[in-house]
Amino acid sequence: MINEAKKVLKNYFGYDSFRKGQEEIISNVILKVPTLAIMPTGGGKSLCYQVPGMISDGVTLVISPLISLMKDQVDALNDNGIPSTYINSSLSSLEIEDRINDAKLERYKFIYVAPERLESRAFRQLLKELPIKIIAIDEAHCISQWGHDFRPSYRNIQMVINELQNQPTIVALTATATREVISDICNILDIPIEHVFVTGFTRENLSFTLVKGENKRDVILRYLERNQGQAGIIYASTRKEVDQLYQFLKKTGYLVGKYHAGMTEEERYKAQEMFLFDRITIMVATNAFGMGIDKSNVRYVIHHNLPKNIEAYYQEAGRAGRDGEPGECLLLFNPQDVQLQKFLIEQSSMNDHVKTFEYKKLQQMIDYCHTDKCLQQYILAYFGEDNQTYRCGKCLNCTDQREKHDMTTEALMIFSCIKRMNERFGKTLVAQVLKGSKNKRITQFNFMKLSTYGLLKNKTEKDIVDMIDFLAAEGYIELTSGQYPVLTLDKKAYLVFKGDLQVIRKVQMNQRQLVEDNQ
Ligand code: ADP
Repeated sequence: MINEAKKVLKNYFGYDSFRKGQEEIISNVILKVPTLAIMPTGGGKSLCYQVPGMISDGVTLVISPLISLMKDQVDALNDNGIPSTYINSSLSSLEIEDRINDAKLERYKFIYVAPERLESRAFRQLLKELPIKIIAIDEAHCISQWGHDFRPSYRNIQMVINELQNQPTIVALTATATREVISDICNILDIPIEHVFVTGFTRENLSFTLVKGENKRDVILRYLERNQGQAGIIYASTRKEVDQLYQFLKKTGYLVGKYHAGMTEEERYKAQEMFLFDRITIMVATNAFGMGIDKSNVRYVIHHNLPKNIEAYYQEAGRAGRDGEPGECLLLFNPQDVQLQKFLIEQSSMNDHVKTFEYKKLQQMIDYCHTDKCLQQYILAYFGEDNQTYRCGKCLNCTDQREKHDMTTEALMIFSCIKRMNERFGKTLVAQVLKGSKNKRITQFNFMKLSTYGLLKNKTEKDIVDMIDFLAAEGYIELTSGQYPVLTLDKKAYLVFKGDLQVIRKVQMNQRQLVEDNQ
């Protein structure tokens, strides 16, 4: 059977061997076993349903949210001699009718549709008349409300599957999925957990770095100066910020375009095409830009603002280096961006349960900005690939030359203070108590009487907050979910109290002197 798959691979796609994971996934689908494939971007997900689709009789229905990509994918299949089509809102009703008639005559092996199309009862009726043997669901994380890109129209897929008489084989594919999302996809699509294939999230060609507390425009200009002529994306969180940054870079003389949902469809299309065909090298955009941008030579992705969670970050940053050549992912961190993300969660129509979950994910994103660990390892651990010894060797932390310093004493002071404040307050107040500040809240709660009051008076409040952020990122301190997170101690902090664990941190020389001055 796999030999037959290899023949298809060679004859239709021109490749000699399967990539990591493809063979198992393809075998599963050929055996009609429902399957979920999690593969990194550029890993080769399309072949996981295209090869089985060629071996199977009948039609493969591909559900994809990426209207802009459908045409390219279908053209590529037709070029390879595989009759295929797509049906989406870019076509006239006459064209749709023609394609539907051809589909009824079984002229296609692959039919691509957007999930919204499945809302139409007439269209679902048509699907019943077709010999659909495989349903491939691309970007499958969109089906889960725990995913970062939930699309309600994806829920129609269930309905289609239930309505079809001959149960087709389901293969769901995505590049990003946390444990919650995986189990959600499996539940909704009835995929047994043992048929989930994770071929790994590691993107070895990407290097991750972040810059904290510097003027963002200066950093961007310095970066662009060093990367002249290379294609890159700069993500900003609001339309206004995109407009401003775009103007600024344009004035500076860069070949830059912009993309956000406030522009007309035509403007967006034009900007996208200019970028795809290298007429502009830099695209400044909100997160509306990207899903389905198949530009392989993006060399860097800069995040001007903190993304809402690691999934969104990894997916956006992962648009660098799709061709396997080195790509750089730079995040510009400013604590104020955290407030914007919290505001967005607060303002959203999500229920409280989902909000709490979003706050938790935001905290994990913030922790990413404060950890000392390999940044790629941190991301992999987030997705459940917990390999403590993995080092990418090229991220900010792997290449960090700063010296390691034992900060167990300060950590114990911070832990004690949190405990004495009954684990009921946020980091600002804890830092102020340790600093020995005088203000209304401190007087109101009588915190001057605490034995930990003023213990770190030689430091700035900012330094203390910075240490707390680090201790949170390393899992000693936990922050409750919500708009105003409260600091609580994790069991890891108690190991430090017992003397079983030391707290080691890399520090700059000046930070180190500050630490030592205090002792
Ligand atoms: P994904 O959807 O996972 O991001 P694609 O399916 O678009 O990735 O594949 C990325 C690239 O890798 C495509 O150019 C594809 O033709 C190529 N590719 C996929 N599988 C193989 C393989 N077995 N051998 C060589 N190239 C492959």
